[in-house]
Amino acid sequence: MTTILRFAPSPTGRLHIGNLRTALFNWLFAARQGGQFVLRFDDTDRERSTREFADGIAADLAWIGIAPHRTIRQSERIALYDAAAETLKAVGLLYPCYETPDELDRKRKRLAARGLPPVYGREALKLSEDERAALEAEGRKPHWRFLLPNFDADPFTPKRTELSFDDLIRGPTTIDLASLSDPVLIREDGSYLYTLPSVVDDAQTGVTHVIRGDDHVTNTAVQAAIFAALGAAMPRFGHHNLLTTVGGEGLSKRSGALSLQSLREEGIEPMAAASLAVLVGMAGSIEPMADLGALGERLDFAVVSNSASKFDPAELGRLNREIVHGLSYNAAADRLAAMGIAGEEAEDFWLAVRANCDKVPDAGGWADVVFGEIAVPAPEDDAEAAFRAAALRLLPDGEIGPGTFKAWTSAIKAETGAKGKALFLPLRRAITGLDHGPELGPLLPLIGRERLVKRLAAD
Ligand code: GLU
Repeated sequence: MTTILRFAPSPTGRLHIGNLRTALFNWLFAARQGGQFVLRFDDTDRERSTREFADGIAADLAWIGIAPHRTIRQSERIALYDAAAETLKAVGLLYPCYETPDELDRKRKRLAARGLPPVYGREALKLSEDERAALEAEGRKPHWRFLLPNFDADPFTPKRTELSFDDLIRGPTTIDLASLSDPVLIREDGSYLYTLPSVVDDAQTGVTHVIRGDDHVTNTAVQAAIFAALGAAMPRFGHHNLLTTVGGEGLSKRSGALSLQSLREEGIEPMAAASLAVLVGMAGSIEPMADLGALGERLDFAVVSNSASKFDPAELGRLNREIVHGLSYNAAADRLAAMGIAGEEAEDFWLAVRANCDKVPDAGGWADVVFGEIAVPAPEDDAEAAFRAAALRLLPDGEIGPGTFKAWTSAIKAETGAKGKALFLPLRRAITGLDHGPELGPLLPLIGRERLVKRLAAD
């Protein structure tokens, strides 16, 4: 049997780093098993889902290197859900309810006042046909609830009913179905909540494993009951811990916080985001992985933490820096070209400055320093002025090449006696206008004779 996983975002915003954790857990697990990955847009909420967000999510995944084998949209599969709903209605497992949100709220408050859990009492199941007709004549439309299998003969006396499954990540997990309200599967306007479509799609697309956030553990118990009611095989489920901000707040697609789109625009490398999204909250060191294959080797469900993990942008910055310091010219070329850094010197330039870049866009600043008009600070004293004059005079003739810096600094040292910092710092200030920066040797040929002379002669 082919291993099939799926990632099922609702397109109500762009992906954030927590969604990426879910997507990658599924993608990497599928890849390791030689299986397939389905991208499923859970877009039954017509008000909040947009095509634009769906396209943006597909682009976010492509940026990371996730290429789904198949993409489906729930909005195009309603007939399948209707058929499943009819099956459930026919056997009395999906029943119409007419309470308004206010009425439900009052019921919950009454239960709370008696110290009881806020579990729906199935009052709608008691309605006679005439009573239903009367409610509909009033203009009420039903929402539909799934009757959970938590009773023997009488649905009004539910009893403890343990539903257990062996979670791929958390291990054996048990939920008491009597602790839950019958879930609403269909809204008043006839639209589906995600619960039933997800089961229908998982069954129909042959999904073998579902890995999702641990905010869905209870849903899994409900969905297990629906799989059984539909006579469908249940996939193996795994629930991973969620990521929060450093302040401990949950991440939300709608807020846009830590979205992949914003990280990409800030110049974060996809493998920095991917490495941290997977490795945070898992035993072992957090290091930038070279590619998704290497990251997949690190995926180990046995060592995923059970509690929420904080996602620290500073850590992301560290991983990014490490990647950028070793990033090949080819990997950066398009982005450098977009900044106007192209042509025959572009590769040497990138190799000369990358160790001084936290992000690829930082190269733009160094391009200004190397190729632009810079303001060289005036010499601090006569000694520095004399040093610059000597440096200008001793600049070797001919083309400025890879060996020029060494020859030049040896000559300056021999004449002025300056060495170490006393040699390099004033030279750097004169050539780049700065106290820190990339190694000067490789920069010299890029700055070139004309600019060097101009900068050394500036006063
Ligand atoms: N659309 C659901 C969500 O984004 C999918 C949950 C699932 O993976 O089943 O939470």
